[in-house]
Amino acid sequence: MLIVSTDPAHSLGDALGVRLSASPRRVLGRVVGLELDAPRAFERWLAEHRRPLGDVLEHGTWLDRDDVEALLDLSIPGVDELLGILEIARLTGGQGRKEGKGREDYDLVVVDTAPTGHTLRLLAAPDTVAAVAEILDALQEQHRIIRDQLARVGRADASDRLIALLAGQARDTARRLRDRAQTTFRWVTLPEAMSLEESEDGIDALERSGLHVEEIVVNRVLPDAPRCPICDRRRAEERRVIDAIRRRLGRGRTLRLMPAELREPRGMKALAALGRATASGSGSTAPRTRSTMAVSAPRGGRTIAPEAIGAFSGASLLFFGGKGGVGKTTAAAAAALRIAAADPARRVLLLSTDPAHSLADVLQAAITDTARPVTHGPRNLAVRELDAARAFEQRRVQFEAALDEIASAFGAGAISAIAGGTSDLVKLAPPGIDELFGVLSVVDARSEYDVVVVDTAPTGHALRLLEMPDAARQWTQVLLRVLLKYKSLVRPGQLAAELVEISRSIRELQALLRDGRHTRFIVVTRAAEVPRLETARLLARLRRLHLSAPAIVVNAMTLLPGRCARCRATSAAERREVSALGRLCRGRCAMIEAPLAAPPPRGARALNGWAQRWRLDREPRRLSA
Ligand SMILES: [Zn+2]
Repeated sequence: MLIVSTDPAHSLGDALGVRLSASPRRVLGRVVGLELDAPRAFERWLAEHRRPLGDVLEHGTWLDRDDVEALLDLSIPGVDELLGILEIARLTGGQGRKEGKGREDYDLVVVDTAPTGHTLRLLAAPDTVAAVAEILDALQEQHRIIRDQLARVGRADASDRLIALLAGQARDTARRLRDRAQTTFRWVTLPEAMSLEESEDGIDALERSGLHVEEIVVNRVLPDAPRCPICDRRRAEERRVIDAIRRRLGRGRTLRLMPAELREPRGMKALAALGRATASGSGSTAPRTRSTMAVSAPRGGRTIAPEAIGAFSGASLLFFGGKGGVGKTTAAAAAALRIAAADPARRVLLLSTDPAHSLADVLQAAITDTARPVTHGPRNLAVRELDAARAFEQRRVQFEAALDEIASAFGAGAISAIAGGTSDLVKLAPPGIDELFGVLSVVDARSEYDVVVVDTAPTGHALRLLEMPDAARQWTQVLLRVLLKYKSLVRPGQLAAELVEISRSIRELQALLRDGRHTRFIVVTRAAEVPRLETARLLARLRRLHLSAPAIVVNAMTLLPGRCARCRATSAAERREVSALGRLCRGRCAMIEAPLAAPPPRGARALNGWAQRWRLDREPRRLSA
């Protein structure tokens, strides 16, 4: 059996308590684990197929080999999703497997996917690969005709074989994903209202594309225990949500409840025990509470609302990011509401770039791609959920014009023939296109607003968003160079002018992102081991990107444990985690604790009240820039 993680922010190794890499490693008995490294897998794939791919581009366009090589060196946004699904196909004995050398056969492959929005993209990847194969095929056609006329006998060359391989992999993978006998989906969620909305949307999208969700796993369900005002309220809220899941999503599906352990289950032994406990029971298992020393929590820090936090003030661009399920949308919405209310003269925009939007759920308001104020929110706050598909649709005309220009510039009449319909254009767009639009929207928004608060996708894709400007600028530069080189054949025209413009705004954005006075990344996490390990990696990556990360918001803290043994033990464990988190940023970031609320705050009023109960555990003397 193979366990593989396709989430670019891997935490499979953290959960298993072993170090995993892109090479399979035996973790227990016959179980082998690996964390997919998509950029490296793509490099490997490209190294293997570079020559025939380059041949197709060289034969089918006016580009010479140097241009082709420069294009092949560019990184492709969203390659994670494309490669992820092909790698899985390869590992499970799909058509492409003969490509892999020395691969083992696995009876079962368990895939730990990225959070919702990007998983849907991953599953759509076969269509993208099929579209790429079609284009390559059209580019190859002319060459094929000439070759066959010269040789009299048509014989497939390496390029033909590559095109056939891609088309075959796309077809094979799409078929196997939809085959219930081979592929099943287990949807994992939390007993929280917001997760319910996301689950409904996600499961609906999966079923619409022909993928069957067989089981729903509700994780971190509070077990029964003696009375406690905090736990009782949480249990009541969780029951309400679980009932709703059963009613709205449970038909024809197994519902499995996983108990909330005092210590997050980590490592083989703990996970195996959890597996046994949930495999046998009817679902609702009553786990034993582990005995943990109840230490009374020493309370430090002071209450502070977001607008008064030094790490937030003065910034014009505030990114909120972290692991999925830690409450970053809630924290971002609360901060934006308070920052706007504190100074009516400032125009504030709250913008979500997460394809699995949850701002509407958190604010309990209809939110669209058009920035608008929300009910009970300050008038100077506008809220918007970026709709990448719509943004793409709106720019369709521009895109088609640009595509025509590229096609005539590169001599690839085939491209425009294929990409005539919008649906094909969308298929052609790299999966990371919404991140690119996300970045560009941030630039656009900056001219209209004094403060932009960005609710990003979970870690891996938030990082991709921030790395996007570098990749996008490389693209514009290579394309410009190529266009200018062939200016005797085609006028550089509108496309060149746009590329120059894009290149300039990307340069501005790069400078802005690296300027700690303007741009700050607020890391949201929970006081538990697995989120902390992901936070450590996130902070390291942010440092490498020269981004300022001056604050960590630790969400869902049990701040007033009272007498309940469970709450007290939870609180003591959380305190230890907060100390460990503080050490991660070497005392250079503000530690903010946001209280656990049951039910979680929804709507402007509740968020406002919740944010007034944030605590500042520690603020550094100097902001890390
Ligand atoms: Zn309690």
